[in-house]
Parts: sequence; C-alpha cells; structure tokens
Amino acid sequence: MSLLLDRFDRQVEYLRLSVTDRCDFRCVYCMSEDPCFLNKDQVLSLEELAQIGQAFTELGVSKIRLTGGEPLVRTDCDQLVSALAQLPNLRELSMTTNGSRLTKLAPNLKAAGLSRLNISLDTLNPEKFTALTRNGKLERVIAGIDAAKAAGFDRIKINAVILKGHNDDEVINLVDFCRGRSLNIAFIEEMPLGVISERKTARHCSSDEVRAIIEQKYPLVLSAERTAGPARYYQMADSDIHIGFISPHSHNFCHECNRVRVTVEGKLLLCLGNENAVDLKALLREHPGDIARLKQVISEAIWHKPKQHDFGAEGDTQILRFMNVTGG
Ligand code: SAM
Ligand code: SF4
Repeated sequence: MSLLLDRFDRQVEYLRLSVTDRCDFRCVYCMSEDPCFLNKDQVLSLEELAQIGQAFTELGVSKIRLTGGEPLVRTDCDQLVSALAQLPNLRELSMTTNGSRLTKLAPNLKAAGLSRLNISLDTLNPEKFTALTRNGKLERVIAGIDAAKAAGFDRIKINAVILKGHNDDEVINLVDFCRGRSLNIAFIEEMPLGVISERKTARHCSSDEVRAIIEQKYPLVLSAERTAGPARYYQMADSDIHIGFISPHSHNFCHECNRVRVTVEGKLLLCLGNENAVDLKALLREHPGDIARLKQVISEAIWHKPKQHDFGAEGDTQILRFMNVTGG
C-alpha cells in the first residue's frame, strides 16, 4: 500500500469527512444566526463520500471521523456509516455530533459499525445552552449522551468550547458531569473562523486558563495518551477519565499533524488554518468512480500540505470559512 507522505515527512493517517453544512443548532462560535446553506447538488453525494473514504483508506488512512454541520441531520448518514465501516483498512470510524438526535439514532449507528462518538456540550445550564446554540435544548442532548452509552458506545468524548463571560464558570460542572458518567472531555479553544469581531477576541479563553480553573479542585497529571493531534490529555488521581485540551493558538502541534479534511463541497483541505484546497468533487463528477485517479490527485495534494497553520498566538488571523462548512 502506498502511503500519504508530505514534504515534512509527516504521514497522513486521519481524515475528517464533512457530510453536511446543515445543522439544527446555530452555535455562536460556529455559524451565523441566519446561515445560507448549500444546495443539494453542491454537496457530496453518499456515493461520492464513500468513494473518497475508499481512496483515502487505500492510501493508508486508518481513521475517519464524520462531521459537519450536524452529520445526523443528513438522513442517509447511517447508510454512509455502513458503507465506510466495511472498508478493509479502516481501523476506526467515528463521528462528532451535537447529540440532539442520538436518542433515536444511537442504536442504528452502533449497528451500522460506528466505533466512537464525540458529543459537543458546552454548558449544563439550560438557559445558557439555548443561548450558546441559539435554539438547542439541553435535556435532549443529555438524553442523547445516555442513549449512546446504552447503545454500547464506550470511550465517548465530550467536546466543550469555553468562552469567557459565557461558560467559563461551567468548567468544573462539566468535569463533574463527565466524572459521574465516565466520559472523557476535551476543552477546545475557540478558533478564529468566520467573521471576527472585537467581541470574539475578548471572549477567547486559553487552555491554560481552563486548566488552572480545574486544578483549583482537581490536580491534573499529564497522561501518556497521545493522538498526534492538537490535544494534550491529563488525568485526576481519583478518576480514570481523560481531560484533553485542544489549543490551536497556545500550543503549536503542526510538526506532528497527521490529518486532513474534506469539506462538504468536496474540497480537500490540507490544513484547518490555511486556505490551500483541492477540488475532489469536480474530479469525481468529471471521472465518476475513477478511484485510481482520485488516489493520484490526493497523493499529489498531500505532498503540498503546509508546514503549519496561520493562526496567530492571539487568534488574530482570520480564516473566512465557518466551522460548519469546513467540518469541525
Ligand atoms: N455538529 C457537530 C457538533 O457540534 O459536534 C459536529 C460539527 S462541529 C463544527 C464540530 C466541533 O467543532 C464541535 O465540538 C464544535 O464545538 C467545534 N467548533 C465549532 N466552531 C468552532 C470554533 N470556531 N472554534 C473551535 N471549535 C469549534
Ligand atoms: Fe451545529 Fe455543531 Fe456548528 Fe453547533 S458546532 S452550529 S451543533 S455544526
């Protein structure tokens, strides 16, 4: 099997595949209140998504994460999970979801072959939850988390974006919630995607600040767990859960980056913090089903993966994409 290597000797083993830009929430850090969504023909079809998964796994990618937008608003999502789960070289097929539809869909996803779930949850206060998501219902997400556990998903990870003045007072509550339910948790620094305003930089809360809040109650010890990604994991003496910190601004992880993204429009993004992209959808529509050609284009593109992202230490570089289009 040929491998996906870049000029800096990094091997790409991990693909984030965005399946929709649509979502039932409107999280303040992710999309505008009144987003303009893509038309169906602009979005990769189920077959195109599966072919992209096939090409990447034949090139040595062993982990695929489905994301969006909210993957579960796409009604054929469990069919995609089934198709991808059968790829022989795939070791892990995971999904990042806002959890709002898991009470209904968790058993199907488990049966279709999904191996892991990340579920986003930024607060345990129902009013704050509705304010941050602009319309979400906290109790549905908590019921979704419980349904996922009941369906047999283990090592579920909660993702929390912490914003100063919005939910930085919720950090300990979130840690206690995860301790009580044996869930791992990753605290994510807000990334400067979409339109940046002065308000956005003022609410930036660094991983070091979040860690300091936790350590007032629970001393943390660095864990051996690594993912060749942006997260650093810690543990507490009296719990086996992992607490991760994803810090695109304050800790540069580019030298060991092993991942690329394919957006919902089929653009292969070589780095989240750069605009370099290759249009796989155009190629697939010009040469339907030509996996050999797709693999050739992907390999050549990976060679040009940028050395590092362009986010400044204070989040001052602006990338004019919203997270739901990029695929978080
Ligand atoms: N809808 C799903 C969800 O919310 O989990 C999947 C897509 S969402 C874009 C994936 C992850 O990106 C979520 O955990 C979300 O909190 C995070 N996210 C969205 N916008 C972000 C931003 N500007 N900075 C950092 N993380 C962001
Ligand atoms: Fe939707 Fe996820 Fe973006 Fe929130 S973070 S608006 S749930 S895609």
